[in-house]
Amino acid sequence: MKIDLSLEQAYARASSGLRKKMEYSIRLLQKAERLALAYDSRGGYYLAFSGGKDSQALLHIAQLAGVRYEGHMNLTSVDPPEVIRFVKQHYPEVQLIKPKASIYQIAVEKSLLPTQRVRWCCNEYKENAGAGKVTLIGIRHQESTRRAKRNEVEISSRKFSGTLEGFEQYREEKLSKPRRGRPPKGVNITNATGERTVGCISGKESLLISPIIHWTERDVWEFLNRVCQVPHCQLYDEGYTRIGCICCPMSSYRQKLKEMNRWPHVKRGWIKAIINIRRGGVSQRGLTNSNPVVRYWRRLETHHRRNWGGTLHIQTRHGGSAGFRAAPRLSA
Ligand code: SF4
Repeated sequence: MKIDLSLEQAYARASSGLRKKMEYSIRLLQKAERLALAYDSRGGYYLAFSGGKDSQALLHIAQLAGVRYEGHMNLTSVDPPEVIRFVKQHYPEVQLIKPKASIYQIAVEKSLLPTQRVRWCCNEYKENAGAGKVTLIGIRHQESTRRAKRNEVEISSRKFSGTLEGFEQYREEKLSKPRRGRPPKGVNITNATGERTVGCISGKESLLISPIIHWTERDVWEFLNRVCQVPHCQLYDEGYTRIGCICCPMSSYRQKLKEMNRWPHVKRGWIKAIINIRRGGVSQRGLTNSNPVVRYWRRLETHHRRNWGGTLHIQTRHGGSAGFRAAPRLSA
């Protein structure tokens, strides 16, 4: 969605507090664009979009700054359908990236549900998005105590966290120090003078820029409703303050119950995944000869048949025979 608004008009509509924050964000976006183009001269910034209010504010501030970017939404298979519909209708330019495997399939393969402590799903679906690029993210200090410690420029592996000026210094120091005679490691980039050189990120890393990190929730709503005058996802009008995955491990118990009632297909998906984990952690997708768990059980079964005859009844570790309590029955 392109907003038909000049920068002056946008500033005129904003309160003085928001205007200062908009100016800061726009300056940061314009200064860091050089880096984004060095990593991706065609697409520029990799803008991580979720359909929520913060990513909408991020996208529209990037538009006002006049920088080059491409919007991407990484689906997780537990996204609210209302959010996907909203993005398809109002932000058709945002590329929807489907996951290679659903969150349930990966949980079964790992024999582990995502939890607050082991939040592997974010790592699987979100954190590696934009690898090798300069990624715009819509995090804000006000969201949580954890996010309050984040900085506006970071390398995703947290090798660096600070300001844009601090990053330039870090980069110079890193490139001036030879790694025991070996060339510096990193993604090849084209610098401002058109030369090919080595960037500061390597492998799955990305350089994260958070232009709205100092904004409050109020600033975001003022920006969307008063300055840009754009629609938002209907879930906010129904009382949702945060839009993310359904039954995200980071949400409260009460919130999860509410979401399971509203989107029962997710509840069914998780119950099926838990049953599969209790059966030995092999999902339908994994039932091929290339799966190491399947190969192991097949070898065991052949060995049993040859030596003792008959079929082997595999007792899973949750079956109650090896000191584990039998799990309660689940129904969808
Ligand atoms: S938002 Fe929640 S459920 Fe979604 S990927 Fe991140 S931690 Fe997992």
